[in-house]
Order: sequence, then structure tokens, then C-alpha cells
Amino acid sequence: MTTSDLQPQTQIAALAPRVKRGPSTEAVHAGAGAARPNAYHALTVPVVQTATYTFEDTADLCAFQEARMWGGARDRTEYGRYGNPTVAACEAKLAALDHGDGAILFASGMSAVTTVLLAMLPTGAHIVIGDDCYRRTRQFCLTFLKRLGITTTVVPMGDFAALDGAIQPHTRLIVSESPTNPYLRVVDLVRLAEIAQRHGVKTLIDATFATPVNQCPLDFGIDLVVHSATKYLSGHNDLLAGVAIGRAGLIDSLRQALGVLGGVSDPHNAALLARGLKTLALRVQRQNENGQAVAEFLEAHPRVSRVWYPGLRSHPDHAIARAQMLGFGGVVSFEIDGSLEEASRFIDALEIPLIAPSLGGCETLVEQPALMSYYELSTEERLAVGIKDNLVRLALGVEDADDLIADLEQALARIYSDPKGF
Ligand SMILES: *Cc1c(COP(=O)(O)O)cnc(C)c1O
Repeated sequence: MTTSDLQPQTQIAALAPRVKRGPSTEAVHAGAGAARPNAYHALTVPVVQTATYTFEDTADLCAFQEARMWGGARDRTEYGRYGNPTVAACEAKLAALDHGDGAILFASGMSAVTTVLLAMLPTGAHIVIGDDCYRRTRQFCLTFLKRLGITTTVVPMGDFAALDGAIQPHTRLIVSESPTNPYLRVVDLVRLAEIAQRHGVKTLIDATFATPVNQCPLDFGIDLVVHSATKYLSGHNDLLAGVAIGRAGLIDSLRQALGVLGGVSDPHNAALLARGLKTLALRVQRQNENGQAVAEFLEAHPRVSRVWYPGLRSHPDHAIARAQMLGFGGVVSFEIDGSLEEASRFIDALEIPLIAPSLGGCETLVEQPALMSYYELSTEERLAVGIKDNLVRLALGVEDADDLIADLEQALARIYSDPKGF
């Protein structure tokens, strides 16, 4: 084997020409073929577990530096923070799935969000975010960005007049999620992109809850997509990662920023994520089915007062979800009769779902937002941000829908037949 067989294919893999294929085919094959033959003709992408890369001699180093200065040196890098072939192969898979030119992997979803915002926003800039946005993203905007002189206007989710009115001459970016947590609100992405383009403002969508199987925001004119890959993309509740996907120019400048800010993915983590991604479409199809079946069961149950699921006709964004999404995901939020206590007893009576934050893995997870993400807020503060005490969020896994429904049914029967407990 010659050294050229073992050359890291960092940039080559990431820039491989893209033929648009279905999400199942892309999930299995994208990013894996560009570097073939892999070392030792391995079918899978090798885990190149290295922090740094070597040079033959000083002349080799200088040739690399010279090529790099002129935008070349695409076949290697010099240090782990600037690239890794295992990470690049996973990034190519993610770029293909979301119909982008390139993708960048980060150490976590929040690392993706914070790096993108720090890289895209100059001092004195202004951004607009939706009021239903991930709590830590909102916190980052309102505290850390504020310290840098970057101001944030929070607008009600789906209120396009408010969004249009919030844009100022120095507005640089509109940030939204779709669907949102925990009420699964769905943004009209075409309208959002149209308003942003009219004002010369860029758009960022956190599409964690949708996955590229259900929705590709870049196809609707959005500039950049981020995901917490910790959720559906990795799919096994066993790693943290984040990703940003977009057009080549924006991705290149973000990659420069990542080299400075440093929240890179570890190659072993990238290999686990790439492995999880191979079954993304299968898993999400099952989670869509489970979501719909469970939402319909809950909506028909007399002890459930309200269900939020975009696949239900009763959801405020059902029409736009149908127009823009191929499936409605695996998260169902609902209010059960009673207060904080009944909701807790119901959760404790469930046998299959595990009590944990997060979503998107194979295991169904359940949480009471009032006691999980919003615990430190008073009841009044919680209600002000729309989080009711009796709200339950169910993040469905890939189990059998019949078993999940039977479990929900027995838990509801148990708490309402014996109001004092069991
Ligand atoms: C979990 C999550 C994040 C944060 O991602 P981490 O991987 O936990 O850092 C961001 N946005 C949404 C919508 C999420 O669900």
C-alpha cells in the first residue's frame, strides 16, 4: 500500500458532485463513495483517529502551504481542528440529505447555533427570532450576543406582519425553528424567505424536529439549516453533535470561523453519527407513523383536553405542514385533565416511555416541560411563555404503535380510575 492510498480525503469527499437521490439512498451511500477505495478496501469509512497530520519533509510542508494560499491543497490538511476525513465523509452525507452544497459538523447542536451566529453577525447587528425558539438559542441571543452589541427582537411565531415590521436597516438574520418545541408550530418557509430576501436579510432554520426526511428548508429558499444531530440524525440517544448545511460560499466562511472557535466534532463521534444516519429514513418513517397514530388516539381520549401534532386537522399549522412537509415527525405534545400532579402521575404510570429530555432516538421518551426544561421558572413565568403545568411531551421512538397506545391507555385508565394514586 502506498502513502497515496492512505491520503486523507478531507475536502475531496465534502466536495463530491451531487446527484439528487432519495433520502434512503443518500443516507446509506452519500459521503462513503467519494474516498473509495478506502484504506484496505474497507466498505465503511475508516475512523481516522488522529489529532494532527504529518509532512514528508520541509519541501512537502512548503508545497502544501503554497497550494493552500492559492485555494488549493484540497486533498489534505495539517491539523485536526481544520478537518478530518471521517468527519468530512459524515458531512458529505448530511449535505446530500439536506440538499446543500456543504455541511459542517459541530460538537453539539448548541455549538452549531452559537458558531453560526458568532460568525455571521458583526457588532451592532440586529436579529429577529421566533418566540417559540429553543430556549438555549434564545438565551444565547439575549445574553451573549447582547454583550457584543448585537440586539434581538423576539416576534410571535407565524406572525408575518410582526416579522416584517421587526426588520431594521441593520438586521442581518432571521432565526426560526420549524417545527417548534413543544407546540410543533410550522413556519411557512417560502413566505419567510420571501420577506427576508425583500429586505436583504439572511435566514437560518433550526430543522431538528423535521429532519431532511420530512423537510429540506434550503429547497424553499432558506440560506442555512442547522440541526441538533443529537436527536433524529444520530437516532440512538448515544452522542451529541450539531450540523449546519448551506450553499458553498456560506459554508466555506463558517468553516473558517469553526477553525478559530474550535467546537469541532471528534472523528469517532462522526463515525457513530454516520452509522446512525444510514437508517435515518427508516427510523423517521416509523416515527412519523407512531406520531400520527398516537396523536389520533390521544385526541379521541376523553381525559386528554388538547393535542398538538401537525398531522392533526386541529393543529393551527396543519395546512402549511401538509404543503411543506412529507411527514409530521415523532413529537406529540398534549394536555391531560388535571394539573401538574395528574400529569406527573400519568407519566409515572407509563411503562414503555423513559423519562428524559431529548427526542429522536429509538426509545420513546416522555417529559413534563414544567418539571424538565422550565423547572426553575415560577408557574406565572411558565404560563407567560405558554408552558402549562399539565402539558406532556412525548417524543416517540421506533417501537410498535400498538404497544405505545396500549401503554398510554392503561396509564390514563389507572390515574383516572383511582384519583388518590395507586
Ligand atoms: C436539542 C436541541 C438543540 C441543542 O442541541 P444539542 O445537541 O443538545 O446541543 C437545538 N435546537 C433544538 C430544536 C433542539 O431540540
